[in-house]
Amino acid sequence: MTAFRIVDTGSPHVRTILRDMEKFQPVGHSILNKSSIIKAEPALIYDSVNVFAKGLHALERSATLSLANLSCESETPWGDGSSLFNYINAVEYDGLTGPIKFTEGKRSNFKLDILKLRNEELYKVGQWTPDGQINITDTQAFFEGGRPNITLKIITIEETPFVMLKDVSNLTGNSRYEGFCVDLLTYVSTMAGFEYEIQFSGDGLYGLIDTDSGEWNGLVRELIDKKADLAVGSMTINYARESVIDFTKPFMNLGVSILFKVPQRVPTQLFSFMNPLAVEIWLYILLAYIIVSTTIYIVARFSPYEWHNPSPCHNNREIMENDFTLGNSFWFTIGTLMQQGSDLNPKAASTRIVGGIWWFFTLIIISSYTANLAAFLTVERMITPIESAEDLAEQNEIEYGTLEGGSTMAFFRDSKIETYQKMWRYMESKRPSVFVPTIDDGVKRVLEGNYAFLMESTMLDYTIQRNCNLTQVGGLLNSNSYGIATPIGSPWRDKISLAILELQEKGIIQMLYSKWWKNTGDVCNRDEKNKDSKANALGVANIGGVFVVLLCGLALAIVVAILEFCWNSRKNAQTDRVRRYSDDEDEDEDGGSGSEREEAELDEKGEKVLRPRTPRPQQSLCSEMAEELRFAMRCHGSRQRPALRRNCSRCTPGSTYVPAATDLPQANGENGLLPTVEFRKSSVVQFDPANP
Ligand code: ASP
Repeated sequence: MTAFRIVDTGSPHVRTILRDMEKFQPVGHSILNKSSIIKAEPALIYDSVNVFAKGLHALERSATLSLANLSCESETPWGDGSSLFNYINAVEYDGLTGPIKFTEGKRSNFKLDILKLRNEELYKVGQWTPDGQINITDTQAFFEGGRPNITLKIITIEETPFVMLKDVSNLTGNSRYEGFCVDLLTYVSTMAGFEYEIQFSGDGLYGLIDTDSGEWNGLVRELIDKKADLAVGSMTINYARESVIDFTKPFMNLGVSILFKVPQRVPTQLFSFMNPLAVEIWLYILLAYIIVSTTIYIVARFSPYEWHNPSPCHNNREIMENDFTLGNSFWFTIGTLMQQGSDLNPKAASTRIVGGIWWFFTLIIISSYTANLAAFLTVERMITPIESAEDLAEQNEIEYGTLEGGSTMAFFRDSKIETYQKMWRYMESKRPSVFVPTIDDGVKRVLEGNYAFLMESTMLDYTIQRNCNLTQVGGLLNSNSYGIATPIGSPWRDKISLAILELQEKGIIQMLYSKWWKNTGDVCNRDEKNKDSKANALGVANIGGVFVVLLCGLALAIVVAILEFCWNSRKNAQTDRVRRYSDDEDEDEDGGSGSEREEAELDEKGEKVLRPRTPRPQQSLCSEMAEELRFAMRCHGSRQRPALRRNCSRCTPGSTYVPAATDLPQANGENGLLPTVEFRKSSVVQFDPANP
């Protein structure tokens, strides 16, 4: 289809007039019909009125206009009419309908654009002038029905994974590039109908306005200067850019976030079972234990109900016992603290109150400890110095910055939020500069440590998925989108927008995202790592300390047992010496039968025989201990042992238990055997001669 038009909507002059016209609401809207295209008739009227105004203006400048009342009845012409006609005839003006010029009252020198319909749109392919000249600028348009032969110049910036240079060296043209945006361009160019040629931008910047000079740099500058048709890449749409260039509909959403090095894991501690309670609390518990044990001991001594008769059958006894000795008090409190209880039980109200309140205390402490222990041992703890942009703003130790000459930098510079203003003041004044020329430089700087990089979430996601040493801190600070940028008024904008919408609805953009973000082999397996560390049972490194405590406890018990053993052996040796001395004295008093002393013993038949007394050897401490040790080390044999090993019949009455008559085994008078009595050590029960 071929069409003609008088208004050249591609001309910048016409576009300016139409934009102005659109501002006059509602007249402007109804003229343009919301299409930015004016019909021929209103365009001609617009030019006519302008031409008339210019003629009148010229007339007014040359002579004083004399206005006269005109009557419709009489045919009196207006005196200046012919002058006005002449002035209008002389007007030369560039109007909506092209250059306007009159020859003898008729418009001359106008032109009509010739249009061809291609891909559902009309394209100018030449022009016609009244002198019969046809000037065809695109002869191809009359023959080919397929793809247009239009090659758009596309500028971009190398940015992983949007646009990247392939490693292969002998490639030429567009085949040198790969990435999300390169794939997107392939789809869009087919749908919108253009060929393209990709080039990297000169200064490698996206574009930022210099607030002092008002000058733009980067890709934006090149589009303003119409050095390229499109800028494709991770080009953020923002207010300042939108006022000097055009953007298509967005193809990706994002926000600014913080890239930071993965915080160090807390080194596992052998004594981490101590962590649930603070050191002060452990010390307070120890103090409470001592105080409560001492209190219960004192209270029990004061309270008469804690004193009891150890032999309830002997009511007239004067000796009373108290279970809560100092040692027992400590044993009682530790038993309850460890939730094990003890065989001691308070009987008096006062001691019960102390015990009850201690039980309550232990209940709370043990429950808190147990609950906190689970959290402490299973959760992997990290030392995170910063958790948000606010944290960054509040400190000066960790440096932070953005990409130079981009929208992220502009975001902090233009933000009215106090925190971001503060961050901008820091970044602007920091020397050496905290701004980086490329995203890769920013990532490298983060890896070196002590630097947080404020970058867009798209690149951030890509980076942290591939490098497990990096992480995102906090959420998104704003919400942005990427679009394809065109010079202002580019005819390609709407076509590309349509293509992007279609690609989005068909899910192709999502597929491309998965292809470039997720499906590449070098993705770091962070999830599995986390799963491992969470699922792993607690190791020796976590709770090995309890085993150490257990071993220490055992060692202490063995040391105490040795001390007890030594102390007891020494006491026995002393007792022996004293007894030997008293025995010898007794025998001297009895008067032996002759010079050689004899003692009565039962022979094998049970008959009493007199045998010469074997001199009892003097027991040294060492031999005493050796004997005790021998007994202790015997693997088999009686579980019982004599309380006093020798001559139990001679034990002091005060330390001997004498069983009641009914308890005694029957004496066998016939064979003359003495009744066997088992002597047990008892330091409390005493023989009462008054009540045998
Ligand atoms: N995509 C950004 C831009 O268009 C780059 C950045 O500043 O992070 O400027």
